Amino acid sequence: MSRQVYINGKFVPSDQATVSVFDHGLLYGDGIFEGLRSYGGKVFELKEHVRRLYESALAICLEIPISQDEMCDAIDLAVQTNAIDDGYIRAIVTRGVGTLGLDPNRCSNPQVIIIADTIALYPQEMYENGLEIVTASVIRNHPAALSPRIKSLNYLNNILAKIEGLRAGCVEALMLNHKGEVAECTGDNLFLVRDGKLFTPPLDAGILAGVTREVVVELACKAGIEVLKVALTKHDVYVADECFLTGTAAEVIPVVKVDDRAIGSGKPGPMTLDLKERFHAFARA
Ligand code: PMP
Repeated sequence: MSRQVYINGKFVPSDQATVSVFDHGLLYGDGIFEGLRSYGGKVFELKEHVRRLYESALAICLEIPISQDEMCDAIDLAVQTNAIDDGYIRAIVTRGVGTLGLDPNRCSNPQVIIIADTIALYPQEMYENGLEIVTASVIRNHPAALSPRIKSLNYLNNILAKIEGLRAGCVEALMLNHKGEVAECTGDNLFLVRDGKLFTPPLDAGILAGVTREVVVELACKAGIEVLKVALTKHDVYVADECFLTGTAAEVIPVVKVDDRAIGSGKPGPMTLDLKERFHAFARA
């Protein structure tokens, strides 16, 4: 179905929604984005996503030409215009058209793009039986080189790890950081369960501050589960009772094997299933 795509305040049919080949978003991956979700036509954690978008922009010295409130309204409007009920929204801001040199100061007019569509990231069967993932040899970007907290248009680090995962027959791959600690997966944050407690790497492990991650942490705390944001190693993953991933598109998805080793019972665990249910109820409330 043809979608109406928002570009700089106007809606255009998807086949006419284009950016220039001189846009530094294309030439250098110079731009930022967000992936959001709508449930029953309402955008989930809209303000949090928009705040992260503006933080990413700030981090790359990109001035978004509209305010955060205007961005929220535009995202809502894109969902309404396309009559999206349960959907996925991509908000993108590029540096805009520039010259063939790097200089961002020579770029004019950042392009603000919002695509409202639907998504099915993983097949239903994977939510029921759990994912098998492998550890990628490619490490997560060093935070001092390109902070993983910036959701930039350059996702090559993640894509290289994803390629390794796919070649091993897995749809996701675990990424370690430069210290050898567990960071996150290519498009999802990671959680472990051990002895009834929930563990997830801290932000200084060099990860994206996942919106879903924070919602799950809050839901777990409310349910009386102790949550620890601490440095984790591959050893912690291998000896965990349960493992799951979180992400806007993925929501909460169990992991049952890592590097061909069964995690816990080798089946989605009880705390994972409980938090998955709590997340669904919260998101659709
Ligand atoms: N890590 C990475 C690298 C991501 O790209 C994403 C988003 N797909 C996540 C984690 C999950 O973040 P969120 O819950 O905000 O979607």
